[in-house]
Amino acid sequence: MFWSRSLIPTMKETPEGAEIPSHILMLRAGLVSQVMAGAYTYLPLGLRALKKAEQIVRRGMDAAGAVEVLMPALTPIGLFEQSGRIHAFGDVLIKFEVKRQNRKVQMALGPTHEETITDLVAHQISSYRQMPITMYQIQTKFRNEERPRFGVLRTSEFLMKDAYSFDATLDGLNKSYETMYAAYRRIFAHCGLDYLAVEAESGPIGGDASHEFMALADNGEDTVLYCQDCGYAANQEKAEIGCRDLVLPDVPKQPLQSVPTPGAATIEQVTKFLKCPAQQMIKTLIYVADGKPIAVLLRGDHEANEGKVRRAAGAAKVEMADPAVILQVTGAPVGFAGPVGLKQPIPIYADREIEKIANGVTGANAAETHFTGVNYGRDFQATAFADLRNAVDGDPCPRCSSKLAVRHAIEIGHVFKLGTKYSDALSARFLDQSEQLKPIIMGCYGIGVNRIIAALIETCHDDNGIIWPLTLAPYEVLLSPVKVTDPATKEATERLYSELTAAGIEVLADDRDVRAGVKFKDADLIGIPLRVVIGERGLKEGKLEMKWRWAKQAEMIDLAGAARTIADLVIDERKENQRFRERSHE
Ligand SMILES: [Zn+2]
Repeated sequence: MFWSRSLIPTMKETPEGAEIPSHILMLRAGLVSQVMAGAYTYLPLGLRALKKAEQIVRRGMDAAGAVEVLMPALTPIGLFEQSGRIHAFGDVLIKFEVKRQNRKVQMALGPTHEETITDLVAHQISSYRQMPITMYQIQTKFRNEERPRFGVLRTSEFLMKDAYSFDATLDGLNKSYETMYAAYRRIFAHCGLDYLAVEAESGPIGGDASHEFMALADNGEDTVLYCQDCGYAANQEKAEIGCRDLVLPDVPKQPLQSVPTPGAATIEQVTKFLKCPAQQMIKTLIYVADGKPIAVLLRGDHEANEGKVRRAAGAAKVEMADPAVILQVTGAPVGFAGPVGLKQPIPIYADREIEKIANGVTGANAAETHFTGVNYGRDFQATAFADLRNAVDGDPCPRCSSKLAVRHAIEIGHVFKLGTKYSDALSARFLDQSEQLKPIIMGCYGIGVNRIIAALIETCHDDNGIIWPLTLAPYEVLLSPVKVTDPATKEATERLYSELTAAGIEVLADDRDVRAGVKFKDADLIGIPLRVVIGERGLKEGKLEMKWRWAKQAEMIDLAGAARTIADLVIDERKENQRFRERSHE
């Protein structure tokens, strides 16, 4: 491709509203153009990179024995009613009504396709002999995103690979899951991504049944906890906390005292008002667990983890209590709950740190009032102590004696053992070897294809632009003739272009009649891995200048046989992005 024939609208300035490097660089390098908030047109360079990612994913799935299908984005609303997800999704599901002759038909744009594929399988699979089977598609998905941000990372419309495995036994499911897990590792490695596979909430099957693949990025919206020593990694929702060595501070116990705190209800307001640290506060949250109110106590600087609260309470579902329930249970408006003198006797679950807070501060179950000098045992009791909070940086690792570190990340993939949730709801059953009718056991496996591109750019760029690995780059080689009006330069460029193209190399030639400085700046910005400069002086000496995007130094190669030299390098680099992966050690 010649630059002048393509559409590559590069920009010098940071576009308005773009906050993070991947968003800024995708706009500046002319990969995408915004249509409206959260909706982008992929321009030629962006689409080529996206197609590369798609192809790596497709090859990885095919190699793992999965078969490709294509389901419609349009989904009859009835399927979401049958699975119950119409309520679970709420406004995230894009629903609408269309007219079909004299009928009105309700439908939705698929946010994922569990329902559609389970319905397919319910009709097409009836015997254990037809399994195991894993089917996948690469399709546009829709989820109404109320706050689109961060370019293509958070949009309402995105390209996703979703796969579904169908097995007759739990053992079979475990095998299908492991196959997908291994395929994901190969796919993301082939994309040149620095990723971590982390444990995630496992849902109905329990145990080791869900992993997220995370690209580590400072601007990532996800938080993962990671142990450098033993390799334990989990997302914040799931991360356990190891044994906490807690000691009660050796200070005299103060008397319990009620103090007025007018206008101070939040932890921040109270700590300011009473001049006490947040670690001194006993935060009291009222939840409703399976319809019954419970109190949850946490140190003021900690965040509750709903999954842990749910497990501690032995409940199927927990949610924050509404103000009416809080008033009923505590006798006070929101912000003044505390374990001392609750109006109703409800179970109190306390995080492990609570026992070791001496002379704590907590709500007094009366408006505008707090207690100081609160001590466990003397002033209140707990129904049970448990790990109820999100892990934080420096917490003990649950698997070894080391500490957990917090890392930010972008979720790029997810593997999940579904079990029989959908096959039960949509009657997908099969006859086993003993002619028994059983629900099919499912797994689901997603990859955000656009996110591969954004995560790569987020983690692989410098001040000048994108640094693509060869496997994802829109083009593999960029030819940069310095002076296109010079006949010898033009001839050499065109010859090199046709020889490389004939060798199957993807080449972009910058044939624009612009200053060399502009070309080099744009070359760094769009980040094509191998740049070849064709200059008048070099040509006279029979030389070309060649440089990998990530290398500090350019090297000179002979003009004679240059196409072969370059093609060999590219073909070698295609295999494992070897030079790209070693770039930081240069
Ligand atoms: Zn560890």
